[in-house]
Amino acid sequence: MMDPRDIALQASCPVLAAPRFGPLPEMANGQRLIVAANGVFVQVRLDWLDCVHRITPPVGLPLPYGRMEERLRFSFGVLPIRLIEDFLDAGRKGLPDEVAGVLIYRRGTRNLRLALCEPAYASPARIEYRRPAMEEDETVAVDLHTHGCGLPFWSADDDRDDQGIKVAGVFGCLHESQPQAEFRLVLNGRFKPLAHPWQREPHRRDEAHLEPGLLRRILRRWPSGGLPWNT
Ligand SMILES: [Zn+2]
Repeated sequence: MMDPRDIALQASCPVLAAPRFGPLPEMANGQRLIVAANGVFVQVRLDWLDCVHRITPPVGLPLPYGRMEERLRFSFGVLPIRLIEDFLDAGRKGLPDEVAGVLIYRRGTRNLRLALCEPAYASPARIEYRRPAMEEDETVAVDLHTHGCGLPFWSADDDRDDQGIKVAGVFGCLHESQPQAEFRLVLNGRFKPLAHPWQREPHRRDEAHLEPGLLRRILRRWPSGGLPWNT
């Protein structure tokens, strides 16, 4: 008989084998591991998110399981360019300092709203801020900040601050007509780069630093017009 503490722990993050013939069983909000013929995946469900992300390649044994595909679905549909452009306007007004904001998801309406974060400290190189107050059925889905006139990149502070599960975006070069950005999905300490409409052109100089093939896979999965943005 299993120790009840192990039953509770394993219920909080179950492991299941990927079905080969039938559909994947539904899950409640939370996290589970899926062992598939093509690797080990983590599936995360939140009010606003259903994400399947591969965390390891195939385990090296012939397993009688099905295969999984990575996926990323938002309950609110697509990331709303209009709200993010509103944030960009606020970022420009705040120059030369950095600015922070969040897109807050409301379960009742399945919509996002933009809220700017009140800075406790802001400079052209750093911002410390408080998250805005939220209703009981609201949660932060997208975390946004600017690097003012600087380039957008993930700093050591950003890596340390990006905890939990969310989409994170950083904008830079706000003094130019075409700002630049980086976006990523944050999954409990793992970062998955996301393609977005503010790609640095024409060099895509970060491509070489991404997990091999990841950006290509994202771009293949979301061809032009199919990106998770309402462009
Ligand atoms: Zn930053």
